[in-house]
Amino acid sequence: MNVIAYAARAYESDAFDRFAEELGISLTRVPQNLSLDNAHLAKGFECVTILSACDASAPVLEILAAGGTRFVAARTAGYNNIDAPAARRLGIRFSNADYSPNSVADFAVMLILMSIRKAKTIIARNNAQDYTIVGAQGREMRNLTIGIVGTGRIGAATAKNLSGFDACLIGYDVVPNPALKDLVTYVPFDELLAESDVISLHAPLTAGTRHLINADTIKKMKDGVIVVNCARGELIDTEALIEAIEEKKVSAAALDVLENERGIFHADHRDEILKHRQLAILRAFPNVVVTTHNAFFTDQAVCDMVEVGLRSLASFVRTGASPWEIKS
Ligand code: NAD
Repeated sequence: MNVIAYAARAYESDAFDRFAEELGISLTRVPQNLSLDNAHLAKGFECVTILSACDASAPVLEILAAGGTRFVAARTAGYNNIDAPAARRLGIRFSNADYSPNSVADFAVMLILMSIRKAKTIIARNNAQDYTIVGAQGREMRNLTIGIVGTGRIGAATAKNLSGFDACLIGYDVVPNPALKDLVTYVPFDELLAESDVISLHAPLTAGTRHLINADTIKKMKDGVIVVNCARGELIDTEALIEAIEEKKVSAAALDVLENERGIFHADHRDEILKHRQLAILRAFPNVVVTTHNAFFTDQAVCDMVEVGLRSLASFVRTGASPWEIKS
């Protein structure tokens, strides 16, 4: 079987070699993200695999469908870059990848710890040979209530990680996770906003979660709340967050994802003037840590992403179905 892999990264190379051989796949690798400019390369490929930086909007899917594509396997957990109604209209089926949730969950805990222990301030002072400690006093996890929004695979792994710190864990999800009944107390969303010292976002980006964190929901939060986002940038109205940080309503934020990050994160822009003012403002705040969509990036997760992407396509070709297919 033939597969075209867009956004084939160098760090995926070993895993691509290994699983393509194991599954008998002849693989065409395109290092660039799928886009209007290169969608024609998929002509004749029934099976396509992509990452979340790829453009799988309706116009791109139309080119894929015209070229014979029938299944797109995202090698990522999030698949909001795939225009699902357009894909269904065009007869393109698609799947996502349930790779190691611990990759992101561990990172979320790191960001929570960095925020509550003022790591950015400590490191910045050290870099300037300022070894004073006043102003860098932190807080202890066991004294905090941590609100987890979205308790699926990553939210649940985050909760399990955090349970080792004896924090009080509350959660909100449209579908509560029964596996967390001894770890997390589910509360209505507004109660989570009002009770949490730290809010960690792990919900997918959908029409219902876009700007879930906005000026109104921030008003309902505790003064001094910390916001951590390892999900998707669009879950937060970034302008409202910046205002809340300026007003000291939000005492710290840690963001692995940011609105309009596509084209900026995962590339070297060191000699450029970047057109992303919100990124510049957030990076300048001493109490905001910005990481560049790094949370997934572990050896285990990369291997899993490639394996699941290729297995999903192999299963579709051999059986007509994929266990990872997104149907709803
Ligand atoms: P999942 O599908 O296992 O869990 C998502 C959970 O969110 C589900 O339990 C779902 O019911 C819940 N949810 C849906 N709508 C909600 C709402 N309105 N309010 C509260 N909860 C809601 O997905 P996952 O594997 O845990 O991944 C979660 C998200 O994390 C992905 O969609 C992706 O956007 C993001 N992600 C980010 C990175 C990164 O590197 N930063 C890596 C992987 C995934």
